[in-house]
Amino acid sequence: MTDLISSPRQPATVSTGRVNIQTFGCQMNEYDSELVGSILGQNGYSLTPEETDADVILFNTCAIRETAHLRIYSRLGALVAEKQSRDDLIVGVLGCMAQNLKEDLLLKFPSVDFICGPDAYRQLPELIGRARGMRQRGAAVELSEYETYEDIAPTRVDGVNAWIAVMRGCDNFCTFCVVPYTRGRERSRDPKGIVEETRRLAAQGYRQVTLLGQNVNSYQYDGTSFADLMLAVAEVDGIERVRFTSPHPKDFPRPLLEAIAGSERLCSHIHLPLQAGATRVLKKMNRDYTRDEFLRLAELIRETIPGVSLTSDIICGFPTETDAEFTETEDVMRAVEFDSAFIFKYSERQGTIAEKLWEDDVPDAVKSERVTHLVAVQKDISLKHHQATVGKTVRVLIEGESRKNSAEWRARTYGNAIVVFADPSRRVGDFCDVQIKEATPHTLRGIPC
Ligand code: SF4
Repeated sequence: MTDLISSPRQPATVSTGRVNIQTFGCQMNEYDSELVGSILGQNGYSLTPEETDADVILFNTCAIRETAHLRIYSRLGALVAEKQSRDDLIVGVLGCMAQNLKEDLLLKFPSVDFICGPDAYRQLPELIGRARGMRQRGAAVELSEYETYEDIAPTRVDGVNAWIAVMRGCDNFCTFCVVPYTRGRERSRDPKGIVEETRRLAAQGYRQVTLLGQNVNSYQYDGTSFADLMLAVAEVDGIERVRFTSPHPKDFPRPLLEAIAGSERLCSHIHLPLQAGATRVLKKMNRDYTRDEFLRLAELIRETIPGVSLTSDIICGFPTETDAEFTETEDVMRAVEFDSAFIFKYSERQGTIAEKLWEDDVPDAVKSERVTHLVAVQKDISLKHHQATVGKTVRVLIEGESRKNSAEWRARTYGNAIVVFADPSRRVGDFCDVQIKEATPHTLRGIPC
């Protein structure tokens, strides 16, 4: 742990240890917040959902999107006044932004007592203790080649789906991405521990697990492949659906596709991040596949897993992307017909290869136009896919109340589509058959059978 600045403030008497964790970014961060909750719980702290009720506020941050950065900066700025009126309040920044910006974050925000990177969460009780007792600011940002938090059972909050991190880190070094620098090299967990964790989750009533990793399908442990792991997890009694995220297109060997096709519990949904449709841009992104290879893979997936749902991530306006190359992205989208896609403007991230080598030269207005155009293209494709299910009966798992109407359920199909329906006799966690009556680009609406 690195000691930084000792504050002249006098120690305050602290009688409670209530921690409020605020999570930004991806599912791995959600999972890490559950790990942090568990680590702190073992050290006598309790969690509170209310910031005003907390003695310690932790921001678990993301370094991928500019918007996430800006939101966190604004929260940290606002806490300066709060800390002046509450001398005992401790603020920590965790996660990828802490790892990426390191001590700069402490210098920029006097409201921050410590920073802690994704491989250093075991040091949190010590960081908090030093900030509370000795008024010491601190930083724990060492990356580890081995840390998988294998022995820590996360404090989970969702009663239907449980996230299980099966690997951490990434070795791919896509030139736009900061993850290899903030989360270190790839390391996979022992499959025995993962299956054991799945058994415990099934015993607690979870019906679905989602295997997580920055590059989840590169999972490899002493000869156990990702396909082997998926099949082993799917065999656990009580678990009816197994999902995974986030994969890389380069790691889809045929046995993995055949495993998904052959098991009723392995959901037929594959997230296949395209990022760009032109081979030159893909090469510059260091994505390790060409446009044609991506198209062939999508075709192979559709042949091997009939009815599979394919979703994607797309970046508009990567440095030097021309109009013609942007059109190639649209062409691939139209050829593959993703069920849905997250479409983003390229946002330069500090510390990435792209930031070091190339000017962010596509004007913001052009990036925005490209995003708007692709969002409209995807909306039409998603609507077409959804309309094809009208009249069909689909099996769904109820995840919670509909966001727009609490008298309706929000449920998910095997292929990951959201279905809204009303049935007061059902509960969260139930499976049921629903006949689809209406379709929009984002949602299906139905009636229970
Ligand atoms: S595969 Fe690429 S985009 Fe995904 S985490 Fe690794 S470097 Fe980032």
